[in-house]
Amino acid sequence: MSNSSKKVLIVGGGASGTITAIALIRAGVLPENIVIAEPRELLGEGLAYQTRDELHRLNVPSGRLSAVEELPDDFALWADAPSYSFMERRMYSTYLREHLGNGVRHLREIVTDLEPSSSGKVLATFEDHSKEEFDAVVLAMGLGKARVPNFLHGAPDSPLIIKDVWDGNPLPEARTLLCFGTGLTFIDVALTHLARNPQNRVIAISGSGNLPERHERSQISPFTPTLSDVNSLEKLRRYFAEAGESWREAVDGLRPIMESMWRSFSSEEREEFLRTDGSVWFRRRHRIAPDVADRVDAEIAAGRITVMSGKVVEALVSQNQVHLTLEDGHTHVGDYLALCIGRDYELSDPLTLNLLKGGKTSRGPLGMGLHVDVSTGLLLKPDGTSLSNIFALGPLRSGEAFESTAIPEIRKQAFSIAKSL
Ligand SMILES: Cc1cc2nc3c(=O)[nH]c(=O)nc-3n(C[C@H](O)[C@H](O)[C@H](O)COP(=O)(O)OP(=O)(O)OC[C@H]3O[C@@H](n4cnc5c(N)ncnc54)[C@H](O)[C@@H]3O)c2cc1C
Repeated sequence: MSNSSKKVLIVGGGASGTITAIALIRAGVLPENIVIAEPRELLGEGLAYQTRDELHRLNVPSGRLSAVEELPDDFALWADAPSYSFMERRMYSTYLREHLGNGVRHLREIVTDLEPSSSGKVLATFEDHSKEEFDAVVLAMGLGKARVPNFLHGAPDSPLIIKDVWDGNPLPEARTLLCFGTGLTFIDVALTHLARNPQNRVIAISGSGNLPERHERSQISPFTPTLSDVNSLEKLRRYFAEAGESWREAVDGLRPIMESMWRSFSSEEREEFLRTDGSVWFRRRHRIAPDVADRVDAEIAAGRITVMSGKVVEALVSQNQVHLTLEDGHTHVGDYLALCIGRDYELSDPLTLNLLKGGKTSRGPLGMGLHVDVSTGLLLKPDGTSLSNIFALGPLRSGEAFESTAIPEIRKQAFSIAKSL
């Protein structure tokens, strides 16, 4: 069968699903033979690019965000921006939709199950119980659900505790917002809240009390390590120790070999890396734009943002306020509490649950994402054999590939799937 007559289902129409459709069309699949199942109204948005707030910025330079690897400056040219610039995040989904065009079928449905048939096709079931057969399916269900910290386990739900700041609802009006977590999500939430009223303030608490690092004001030249320089945790730590103050060059230099490096680590090394080096890694790897960092620094200096480290032991809602008590006995009070600790790899969409329940696949290493053969992109059964014609990309590959969430990795995976189809 030629590519053009293949009928492909993409499950999830966030950035991963949309970039996959763009890649398939470039590989010769007819747009009318591509179905993207995505309950959201607009393709390309997903979690990251649904924001309408101009203060929320991309954390990757424009020159690295093209949807197509062979056209590296495509996004920068579209945005009419320098390659080394950090544009508004809301622009990105518009870019993806314009690139995609109108030819693909956007089905505003949730896929609930997949059944490979003996003819080599895959039967998809949708939430409305309709069924349709496809030659291939690409899973792009994205990041998991918002993480809930231990101190809230078992606590009753409260409208004053925002568990998922990306659930599509605007932040509530408030004067003092408590944030648990001081990473990238916190930066977005704090900027939105503070822009509403000069009297608003934010109190942010996390274990380390560290904010994300900043990008340099001008482009840097990443180091060029080989895999043998970093193929064990001990070597990786030495690589960073030698880099010293040039840690940005060291982190960025790992990008081309990140997946191979992660796969060369033993599962004990992966676990140890996440436990002991993870927090510093994420802070340095996912950096904020320099002018966003300046703005946050100015808000801290003005006393509108207070950042502290500490272990929260209790969150209590009383008299229309949230009281957060730390291990050291201090209690901080706010009108709302926003959880800003990122997302779990615990996927809870009905398709993932059914695939796992039906024994068609299993969780990826360390419970991250799904079990995927990263060399082919094919989903793996629990016994390690691959399911023909069912692929997965993006955060679903985090267990095997680790850093599998940013656009440069996603587009590479999408084009490799399109090529193998
Ligand atoms: C706030 C935020 C900011 C970010 N900023 C950047 C950045 O600046 N640069 C960068 O490179 N990366 C950034 N990232 C990383 C980001 O995760 C990726 O760039 C990318 O958006 C991941 O997209 P995705 O499509 O895989 O997942 P998602 O965005 O999570 O989209 C998955 C989609 O699948 C749909 N879905 C799920 N289950 C089903 C089902 N069963 N049936 C049908 N549809 C389903 C959901 O409705 C959802 O729309 C950011 C991430 C976040 C959360």
